[in-house]
Amino acid sequence: ALVVGRRVRSRKKWKRVVGVLKELEESCETTVGRLRQVVDAMAVEMHAGLASEGGSKLKMLLTFVDNLPSGSEKGNFYALDLGGTNFRVLRVELGGQRSNLDPDVEQQPIPEQLMTGRSEDLFDFIASSLHRFVGKGNDSMQSSITKELGFTFSFPVKQTSVSSGVLIKWTKAFAIKDMVGKEVAGALQQALVRKGLNMRVAVLVNDTVGTLALGRYHDADTVAAVIIGTGTNACYWERTDAIIKCQGLLTTSSGMVVNMEWGNFWSSHLPRTSYDIELDAESPNPNDQGFEKMISGMYLGDIVRRVILRMSEESDIFGPVSARLYVPFALRTPAMAAMHEDDSPELTEVARILNNILDIPDVPRKARKLVVKICDVVTRRAARLVAAGIVGILKKIGRDGSSGISGGSRSDIKMRRTAVAVEGSLYTQYTTFREYLHEALHEILGEVIARHVVINVTEDGSGTGAALLAASHSSSGSADNI
Ligand code: BGC
Ligand code: MG
Repeated sequence: ALVVGRRVRSRKKWKRVVGVLKELEESCETTVGRLRQVVDAMAVEMHAGLASEGGSKLKMLLTFVDNLPSGSEKGNFYALDLGGTNFRVLRVELGGQRSNLDPDVEQQPIPEQLMTGRSEDLFDFIASSLHRFVGKGNDSMQSSITKELGFTFSFPVKQTSVSSGVLIKWTKAFAIKDMVGKEVAGALQQALVRKGLNMRVAVLVNDTVGTLALGRYHDADTVAAVIIGTGTNACYWERTDAIIKCQGLLTTSSGMVVNMEWGNFWSSHLPRTSYDIELDAESPNPNDQGFEKMISGMYLGDIVRRVILRMSEESDIFGPVSARLYVPFALRTPAMAAMHEDDSPELTEVARILNNILDIPDVPRKARKLVVKICDVVTRRAARLVAAGIVGILKKIGRDGSSGISGGSRSDIKMRRTAVAVEGSLYTQYTTFREYLHEALHEILGEVIARHVVINVTEDGSGTGAALLAASHSSSGSADNI
């Protein structure tokens, strides 16, 4: 009787766990109908953000980048890429013909204490890395010619020109208080001077903008760029007359790149769970970056951790509740992706990660499968929301195939080839994520329209693109900056 009692109890507990999973699946639901509502909401918010300052949670920031690389850029240019998990310095030699770029790149993780310390320490660290990097190249350090630098700074910046701007707020894991409201390029320029580096910050750009620049360099049909890495964001080329909030100011060019800062997008149509609410409340930036917290690499693993914790508390399928499960960000997204994509019959990678990272040993196969399912639900929702965001942009600029439908069927529409540059580890390193994103694009757009929309992966666009923009905005004129 004792054994039977235990079995009944464990069956009941299993049922409860399945209930938790079902609830998760329901609250993460992204039917194509719901995705279309997100598309519409995105387009509406874009309009609102362009109409007036503070008109939407979408900041729709001006970049002052009003021309994109043509391919004729020439010379040696440097770039600094700061904003994700790693920090990069690079040099690229441009030959004047749209060619395969082969930049020298050095990458290193940013010491964690620098992300939350004083701004001067962070910028000194950056300047030192750059100093070392320049020293290694064959460009003479003593050269009296000022080297031109593109600075990619992947946070919301209110630009005052193409080479200057003020930090609005930090996102992701950065929180350097004394930097908010400060001039970003100026802070770097001062550190360069302290190091005795003869360099000029020619452009200050968001990583999405660098990606758009490189995307356009390789594919002239590129209209937008999306990053899905530690954080997420998008930018796109907008017509000057659609940027209502600064009409009169921008008269010289036909358009400008707009940094949407879509990580902060919000809509009641977004499928939100109790885990998202808890994650947000416990984050350093509650009520901020709501879209980003459902999508990007900094957070996906943590959503999964929260679901496993809940299941562990409600049952004993994961044994006694592991203390590791209470540690924020204990489960990183790369580990989550590895579990999700474990195709071994016994799910040995899942077992290994649960054991090594979350301190949960001896998980039975049934429970391992459950973990894979959780990863799948969380990732699928994220990828499909990105797809909806992309279509939202296409809709805003009339490239979603919907304009001009009146009476005619969708298949009659002449749709221009439209390219979107994409970068970030979730897209490039996480096959299932990428497949879900493509699948959703096709579902939302329909096969006929989707055929005209191309997703291009750019390589290190956030850095190389900044060097390209430094070239097209260099003071010396690109030809003689060698
Ligand atoms: C930042 C954006 C950035 C994105 C991707 C977000 O957290 O706010 O400026 O483009 O991350 O790096
Ligand atoms: Mg980056």
